[in-house]
Amino acid sequence: MRDFSGDTALLSLNTATVQAQWTLEQCIEGCARHGIGGIAPWRDKLAECGAKRAARLIRDAGLRVTGLCRGGMFPAATPAERRAALDDNRKAVDDAAAIGAECLILVVGGLPEGSKDIAGARMQVRDGIAALLDHARAAAMPLAIEPLHPMYAADRACVNTLKQANDLCDALGDGVGVAVDVYHVWWDPDLEAEVARAGAADRILGFHVSDWLVPTADLLLDRGMMGDGVIDIPKIRGWVEDAGYDGASEVEIFSKDNWWRREPDDVLATCIERHRTVV
Ligand code: ZN
Repeated sequence: MRDFSGDTALLSLNTATVQAQWTLEQCIEGCARHGIGGIAPWRDKLAECGAKRAARLIRDAGLRVTGLCRGGMFPAATPAERRAALDDNRKAVDDAAAIGAECLILVVGGLPEGSKDIAGARMQVRDGIAALLDHARAAAMPLAIEPLHPMYAADRACVNTLKQANDLCDALGDGVGVAVDVYHVWWDPDLEAEVARAGAADRILGFHVSDWLVPTADLLLDRGMMGDGVIDIPKIRGWVEDAGYDGASEVEIFSKDNWWRREPDDVLATCIERHRTVV
């Protein structure tokens, strides 16, 4: 396993971690100042800054872009809504290419409004990614399917295990891979085997870290800082690296009552310290 103890080049900041405090421009400047090697913007922050301007700022700061968050949200109740989602995803691919992102993260979407048909939603996800793939391949932008914890199956992502994501990749072919976010998959008894399977197919496109707090006060906005919860992050990172992943470790923490209320420079300093010691 790679030694992170003296190194922050392989640390990436997902802008969600300080989304309440900083603009994208401030995130870029903060990463550069703290010696953090990468950044992963969200599209709302990117839109505020403008993709062209963001691309220049990121390049000037010497940062890698470990992913753009996010595309996806494919299932919808009507064909018109599904077409609109696809159009938006094509724009997300273009934005990701404009800033030199290593992948576009896909949060695939959950049940259409009023639906109880999760199998149907999963088919819509497969069809949606398939329809996006030509555009993504032409832009040379890998699509990273991120399985989300099953508590989000209804409203955010009906792909909930790495096995499901791997099966989708097998069905869809080139241009699509997976993002392994420890927050979403740490509990999965098949995780080690499915990480190895993803690695054997050379499709691990991202590795995201945070921690699972006990208790968790909010299903969406109470993620923990690495080391503050129950996830054995080094064990999972070891599996991911044994599977051939040599990319960055991206910190992605949604924390409305804790980390979003802190001084952002202190948040980054803590991310760096934990990256060196508990990731
Ligand atoms: Zn993630």
